Amino acid sequence: MKNKEQEIRTYFHKLDRSFFMDSFKEMASFDEAVPIGHEQTISQPSLVLEMTLALDLETDSKVLEIGTGSGFQTALLAEFAAQVYTVERIEELHHRAKDRLGELGFGNISFKLDDGSMGWEENAPYNRIMVTAAASVIPNELLDQLAAGGKMIIPVGSSFSQELRLVEKDENGKIHSTLLNHVRFVPLKGKYE
Ligand code: SAM
Repeated sequence: MKNKEQEIRTYFHKLDRSFFMDSFKEMASFDEAVPIGHEQTISQPSLVLEMTLALDLETDSKVLEIGTGSGFQTALLAEFAAQVYTVERIEELHHRAKDRLGELGFGNISFKLDDGSMGWEENAPYNRIMVTAAASVIPNELLDQLAAGGKMIIPVGSSFSQELRLVEKDENGKIHSTLLNHVRFVPLKGKYE
């Protein structure tokens, strides 16, 4: 196992998932998505780890995350990247995640309360993009905001079943997409629902 992978696994196992939950804390150790209110969920932990490893973070990565949710995935991204820009459309989740990640001492996360289905153009391009809600197709805006040599993880499909895809933009701007897994995420609201 590579050093970076081992470091991510170690941090992941140290991170207290119940800290990111206001209710159902007794389910924190289950390898399941758990409700966090507003019909949203904190993602299944094994999937959070799989997606983080597949994103192949570098210490100088500038990362865009769509769907802050509880902030659990955000913490993993912020620990192993230079800067994280995270967007959440539900006000209460946005504020709770911001408070929690502030309490953990992260100073490299920028938060935005908005519809992130079209990305966060002002800070583009991003070396890495993590989408934690399912889009019907890969949003063109996110492809445009991905840097050359960049990688994106995104669940794509209907509300019942989706393909988790690794999308890579090569140095010539050509897009390559690889199927990683079959998953079921809440929908990415907005233009690509
Ligand atoms: N990784 C997060 C976690 O473990 O807490 C996942 C949270 S949940 C599966 C997906 C999140 O995406 C929800 O909080 C939802 O409100 C948010 N979301 C859905 N559509 C969005 C959009 N268009 N813009 C921003 N956030 C969105």
